Amino acid sequence: MVDEIEDTGSSVEMFDVVVLGSGAAALAAAATAQGHGAGRVGVFEKADVVGGTSAMSGGMIWIPCNHHMDEAGSPDSRADALRYLDSLSHDRIVPELAEAYVDTGPEMLRWFEEHTPVVFEIVEDFPDYHPEHPGACRAGGRSLECPLFGFGELGEWQDRVSQSRQMSAHVLMNETTLGRGVNTSIPREVLAAREAEDLRGCGQALVGRLLKACLDRGVEIRTGCRAKGFDVADGRVAGVCFDTADGPLEVRATGGVILATGGFEWNPDLVRSFIRGPLERPASIESNTGDGLTMSMRIGAALGNMQEAWWVPVIDVTNDEGREIPWMVNRERVQPRSIMVNRSGRRFANEAANYNAFGAAFHRIDAGSFTYENMPAWLLFDHPYLVRSGLAHYRGEGPVPDWLSTADSLADLADELGIDGAQLEESVARWNAQVADLDDPDYGRGRSINDPRWGDGTRTPAATLGPIDTAPYYAVQVRPGALGTKGGPRTNGDAQVLDLDGNVIDGLYAAGNVMASAMGMTYGGAGGTLGPGMVFGFAAGRHAAQHERNGVPA
Ligand SMILES: Cc1cc2nc3c(=O)[nH]c(=O)nc-3n(C[C@H](O)[C@H](O)[C@H](O)COP(=O)(O)OP(=O)(O)OC[C@H]3O[C@@H](n4cnc5c(N)ncnc54)[C@H](O)[C@@H]3O)c2cc1C
Repeated sequence: MVDEIEDTGSSVEMFDVVVLGSGAAALAAAATAQGHGAGRVGVFEKADVVGGTSAMSGGMIWIPCNHHMDEAGSPDSRADALRYLDSLSHDRIVPELAEAYVDTGPEMLRWFEEHTPVVFEIVEDFPDYHPEHPGACRAGGRSLECPLFGFGELGEWQDRVSQSRQMSAHVLMNETTLGRGVNTSIPREVLAAREAEDLRGCGQALVGRLLKACLDRGVEIRTGCRAKGFDVADGRVAGVCFDTADGPLEVRATGGVILATGGFEWNPDLVRSFIRGPLERPASIESNTGDGLTMSMRIGAALGNMQEAWWVPVIDVTNDEGREIPWMVNRERVQPRSIMVNRSGRRFANEAANYNAFGAAFHRIDAGSFTYENMPAWLLFDHPYLVRSGLAHYRGEGPVPDWLSTADSLADLADELGIDGAQLEESVARWNAQVADLDDPDYGRGRSINDPRWGDGTRTPAATLGPIDTAPYYAVQVRPGALGTKGGPRTNGDAQVLDLDGNVIDGLYAAGNVMASAMGMTYGGAGGTLGPGMVFGFAAGRHAAQHERNGVPA
């Protein structure tokens, strides 16, 4: 393969497969392309670090019908997986993509485990997010994570991977309350040993292992390269133009270009144009500004799933460096002795429901007043909640942080929040009466087996149902946040981007949050975003490598 050629006077680099972005979808695509015969594979990342949101994440992937379930003696079935997705579709999931996802997922997993350091284990007992739906795995098995990974193996890349502002780098999901569903803590000396050896878990382990897979195979990785447009020749995507600190760069790709540039959640104009309701707090990497979306729009890609995001309720907290950061409240809103209320002082949803599904509660508009009924909303709790569960880094000791409102009575707290005090007192009294009977007839909190899982460590409804009766009382505003958007160029099952007539745009692939998600508006289970990202990244990498070897449109 020619390394560099002179073309029309400017320096142009030649690759077989070019991958844009460096999250899980991108790195999966790059390792796969190289492992399926592509010669020179390049990963081009806009940020100064690699890993995107994927490295900041829990790192779980949701793969139905995976071989770990067979080995554990609880095999899954294709029919169940498809029935489950269909039950969540509301006619938004494209059946062809759902089938490609369910069929390719197990292949992807085996390929990585057999050919790379990217290996997985089951996150124990993690039920699907809608466990009462037909075809769901109530006992878990579809959610997987990577074992700890030693970042020392990454050489010069060891300190060039994005990091979470919320999650510890040195734990596994299987060891956390979120992963196991029971309260756990890791001995301090174990954590210290992991830090000393730089052993990392969760999204760090996933990205670290994918990065190692790429480096082992000679994939070239460059940061500080912002893709800004495609070179299209004879109707085929033949290359990419970049902005870099050293000026413009042009790259040619004989096999294909794989877009994996994440969502557009950090681009307010695109959010306003497409997203179905307020998205106030993106929790992803800030470089996800929709570049891949606009690049593909410019060359006539058909778009799909544009109104959707992976929703998550978020609060604003101030971290130890005094910086305001979005804090996802998953476990926090499920704990007993807490509810969420809107400005009329009323509860409005099952607070323990799946975080993605909860987005719909924020987006409900009252037709009469034409206002969002549940914005603003507050998480409200009492002092024992704070002492036992804590919120962000605050456990009820020392001065109350600025981001938290507190008062000695519910009426005073309502005054501070500007909501109806009498109604708030009535809502809390009703809640307390209901939880005394261990049931929530209003919104069914605690009835799904999913609900108590992130509660107080037991698996009974009491894990999430508890009275709010001991002053002082506290409240913090909860906002509609997102892990990322999930609309973009539509693809077929091989991740090839389609044009407005449904024809393949030759040479262009998309995977991860940049593509029109195969999941419609749902989030099937833990790992429901990274799972599809890796599956369609794998499909894209494999197809592009074959395309390159054949030298003709496949
Ligand atoms: C705290 C947290 C926990 C999470 N836990 C999980 C979990 O356990 N399981 C799960 O499934 N999901 C989880 N998610 C969601 C998941 O992390 C994302 O959906 C996923 O990482 C998206 O992957 P991606 O590869 O599409 O994009 P990203 O990982 O965001 O990568 C996109 C990359 O593209 C780069 N880029 C953007 N524009 C350009 C350009 N013009 N040129 C070159 N590069 C560009 C970006 O800089 C970025 O590095 C979590 C999210 C958060 C925030």
